[in-house]
Amino acid sequence: MVKLLNSHNIPAFVDAMEIIVNVVRQFEICTGVCHKKYKPFWESCKRGEVDKNPYQEARYSVTLRSIHCRRLVRPRQGMCLSCAQLQDTLRMKARTAASKSHSKNRARKSVKSLFVKAAVWADN
Ligand SMILES: [Zn+2]
Repeated sequence: MVKLLNSHNIPAFVDAMEIIVNVVRQFEICTGVCHKKYKPFWESCKRGEVDKNPYQEARYSVTLRSIHCRRLVRPRQGMCLSCAQLQDTLRMKARTAASKSHSKNRARKSVKSLFVKAAVWADN
């Protein structure tokens, strides 16, 4: 078995780790889909998993991440491409649900209107 770290290569290892840490520090953590308006649809989304923020990221308290989330994004990018695609899916689900709700309300109002008209007709 090859020993990866020994007394001869510790300085090189530390230098490599410093480079890695400095590169990673240039990125932010992907926020995932954290907007509360999409939360009712999280459970129905098989391509996402709930992240309860174990590292106490300040930009969200809980979020839904794509199962392919890249975790690190460029500053001000907000979320990775996989999470952005997940958000698009949730946006469509929210629109469909809103549209169905709107249609149901219109149908209820229409039925109610018919009852009112029937009641008026019966009174006359
Ligand atoms: Zn992501």
